[in-house]
Amino acid sequence: MIVLNILCDSGHRFEGWFASTDAFRSQCERQLVNCPHCQTSDVRLLPSAPHVRRSVVASAEAVAEAPAVPTELAGKLFQVLAQAAKQAENVGERFPEEARRIHYDEAPARSIRGRASAEETLALLDEGIMVLPAPVPHEDEFH
Ligand SMILES: [Zn+2]
Repeated sequence: MIVLNILCDSGHRFEGWFASTDAFRSQCERQLVNCPHCQTSDVRLLPSAPHVRRSVVASAEAVAEAPAVPTELAGKLFQVLAQAAKQAENVGERFPEEARRIHYDEAPARSIRGRASAEETLALLDEGIMVLPAPVPHEDEFH
């Protein structure tokens, strides 16, 4: 539904609810739209209002159609990460060093987890080492 501002032949302004401007025109042609003040069916649309109203409706629809996925997906992703982290070997502060050793075949390939600073993480990524920065669950959760 949209609200249209309507002007009657005698200069009365009023609002009407219509499914669309086409619906208004159709009802207008059949003289179904009457001024509430003087009852005339000789009415016309005020030109600027519908455009404004329609843009408001359009943006509301855009918001409604925005995917609701991210929160749910992020939750699932975090579960997967948390599961992977539980199974990974905890190398703690040695993480950057151990990640390099695995990458350069100096240590057995395996999943590891540990701590790395942002600089260390970026350095690892620069070297083509797959690391996934993730919020680390509290250590107690691994026992
Ligand atoms: Zn009127």
